[in-house]
Amino acid sequence: MNEFDLIAQLTRALPTNPSVVTGAGDDCAVLDMGAPDRLLLFKTDAVVEGFHFTRETPPEKIGRKALARGLSDIAAMAGAPTAALVTIALPEGYDPGVVGRIYDGMNALAREHGVAIVGGETTTNPERLLISIALIGSVARGKAVLRSGAKAGDAIFVTGDLGGSLAGKNLDFEPRLAEARWLADRFSIHAMMDLSDGLAGDLRHILKASGVGAELSKSAIPISRAARVRARENTAAKPAPLAALTDGEDFELVFTLASRDAVKLLDTWREKFPELKLSCIGKIVAGEGIQIRDKSGSHRLAAHGYEHFR
Ligand SMILES: [Mg+2]
Repeated sequence: MNEFDLIAQLTRALPTNPSVVTGAGDDCAVLDMGAPDRLLLFKTDAVVEGFHFTRETPPEKIGRKALARGLSDIAAMAGAPTAALVTIALPEGYDPGVVGRIYDGMNALAREHGVAIVGGETTTNPERLLISIALIGSVARGKAVLRSGAKAGDAIFVTGDLGGSLAGKNLDFEPRLAEARWLADRFSIHAMMDLSDGLAGDLRHILKASGVGAELSKSAIPISRAARVRARENTAAKPAPLAALTDGEDFELVFTLASRDAVKLLDTWREKFPELKLSCIGKIVAGEGIQIRDKSGSHRLAAHGYEHFR
């Protein structure tokens, strides 16, 4: 059973109540707490030593990453973050100086985005450090962007460059909060999510939730410098285009909007966010799954992309 089968099993019959606007299955839960013009966003995320960072990772970067992941999910809903609760589980004898530095990294990012850290829990965990952060935020009523709104004919966009995140971006990425809110304020964004497990896998969540398929243009997928360098220097590494499709932890946004809005979006984006690339990588089509076009034609992209790029 893979992670997504397990999630599907666990979320089949969860308890609910009338406050739930959108439950499990999107980047954040959306709750109606009775505020006249805003809905609440609710999210939790965890990082674990050995998986998301190592003993060698600078502690400030561990703390920063632990918070940035959840902020990226708030961004994916076009929301604004408000407050966080931090649970930290420490192996016995863990250096309190290191814990202080973890908090320094987390606090600095929280201040940057106006996020209050309002409590949490300290506990123990044998062998591995674990940090779990619960976040609340909000979004104007009618402005939350879900995964389920993609329509055949939409253009598909991604921010930034993809692949090779393990070279450092996985610790230093910027949650695209301002960009996502700007998008939702000015355009009718049909579906959006943040990229945590690689485009080839993550885009399928939008396709499934929306009941559509996608056709991508291989040459339009923005490949990071890190992925190119790794492919060049290590012949055993994935080819760079495959890395861009399948490497995790990009924490960029993928979103769709009506293709008639695409040119205006590209023009205004360049003025507003000159430092951040925005790429139109393909379109939403009727059907299911991902087709990818290159010079040799159109291929069905397997779940993790390997077959067609090896
Ligand atoms: Mg997400």
